[in-house]
Amino acid sequence: MQLTKNKYQLSGVSAIQLCEKYDTPLFVYDTAIMERQYKRLLKAFEGSKVQFNYACKALTNINVLKFFKKLGSGLDTVSIQEVALGLKAGFAPEQIIFTPNCVSFEEIVQAVELGVRINIDNLSILEQFGHKYGNSYPVCLRLNPHIMAGGNLKISTGHIDSKFGISIHQMRHLERIVKTLNIHVNGLHMHTGSEIVNVDVFLNGAELLLEQAMHFPDLEYIDFGSGFKVGYKPGDLETDITELGERMGSMFRGFCQEYGRELTIEFEPGKYLVSEAGFFFCKVNVIKQTTATVFAGVDTGLNHFIRPMFYDAYHHITNISNPDGKNRVYTVVGYICETDTFASDRPINEIREGDVLCFHNAGAYTSAMASNYNSRPKPAEVLIHNGKDYLITRRQTLEDLLATQVEIEL
Ligand SMILES: *Cc1c(COP(=O)(O)O)cnc(C)c1O
Repeated sequence: MQLTKNKYQLSGVSAIQLCEKYDTPLFVYDTAIMERQYKRLLKAFEGSKVQFNYACKALTNINVLKFFKKLGSGLDTVSIQEVALGLKAGFAPEQIIFTPNCVSFEEIVQAVELGVRINIDNLSILEQFGHKYGNSYPVCLRLNPHIMAGGNLKISTGHIDSKFGISIHQMRHLERIVKTLNIHVNGLHMHTGSEIVNVDVFLNGAELLLEQAMHFPDLEYIDFGSGFKVGYKPGDLETDITELGERMGSMFRGFCQEYGRELTIEFEPGKYLVSEAGFFFCKVNVIKQTTATVFAGVDTGLNHFIRPMFYDAYHHITNISNPDGKNRVYTVVGYICETDTFASDRPINEIREGDVLCFHNAGAYTSAMASNYNSRPKPAEVLIHNGKDYLITRRQTLEDLLATQVEIEL
C-alpha cells in the first residue's frame, strides 16, 4: 500500500474509495504482489528444474487459483474439495498434488479417479493403497524428518509429536510395504512447518530427505514443502529466498548427480505467495476509554480474522483515514462476544469513530479461515488486477446463513 498525495493506494486504486464502494469489512488482494512473490521464487531457483505448487488453502478464491495457473504454478491441495476447485480453475490433474492428512481412504480413491498426484502420509493408508493399486498408480510419500521448525508449535509440523507425515524412524517398515505391495513411489515430500527464517533449517531437513531418496529408484520429483517466512512486523526477518535458492539448488543438483538422473525440485508455498498481497479493511465503531487503555472497537472480529488470536500473530495496522494523525496507543478489538484482541497497546495514528483501519499481510489464512460465528456474514473480497478492482466474492447475507438450515415444526 503506497501513500501518494496523502492517500493510500493499492496499485493505483484508492483504498478509501474501495471501502466506500464495497463497504467494510473488506478483503482486498493485489495480483501485482502475488506475481512479484512468484517471480522472486522462480528467480531464486533458476538453474534448477523447479516447480512451485501454490498451497491454495491459504487463500482459496477461484480467481486467485486461476491467476497462479496463468503464472505457471501448480497447485497443492489438502481436501478433495480443493482438488475439485483446482480442476475447475483449469489446472490439469497432473499439475495438482493432493497432500491430505487423516482423510478417509475413499477420499484418496476419489482423487485417484480425478487423476491428480497423490501424497500419502501414513502407513495404514499406504497399505490400503498398495492393495488396491499395486504399481498401477504412482504415489508420493510424505516423510517426517522430525526437525523442529517454524514460528511456534501450532504451525510446526515436523516435530516428534506432530501428526503429519511418516516418521523417518519407520523407514524399514515403509520400505517393506512398498516392496511387498510393489508400490510405484515417484515422489518424496516433506513439509516441516510455517515461518522458517533460518535457511540452515531447510537444508538440514532437505539433507535428511535426500538420504532417504536413495532407497527409491523411480523418483521423478522431490517436494520440500514450504515454510517460507514473510515479514509481518516492520523490521521482521524473512526467509532469504536468494540464499535458499543458491544453497538448496546446488545441494539438489549434487544429489541428482549421485542419484543418476535429474529430478524436479518442488515447493508448495502458500503464505509467501499471498500474505503480503492481502489487505483487510474495517471500520471503527467505537472508541472506548477505560482506566487501563483506549479500545478501538471495529466492525469485524475473530470470525473474519482469527490469526492474532489463534496464532498470536502480529498484523500491522494502519489508520488509512488519518495519515497525518499523531501516534496514540490503542488496543484494537473486535465486535464478537469473545476476547478478540487484534492488537494490544499499539501505537497507531489517532483513531476517530468511523475511521477505516487496514490490517496488513491479510492474504494468507484470513478469509480462508473465516466463520459465521455470532451469525455474522462473511466479508466481500476484491481483487486488484492491472489497476482495476473486481468483486470476487460478494458479501454474505442473512439469507446465505439460513440457506443450509432446515426449519422444522416444533
Ligand atoms: C499449509 C501447507 C503448505 C503451505 O504452507 P505456508 O506456510 O503457507 O507456505 C504447504 N504444504 C502443505 C502440505 C501444507 O499443509
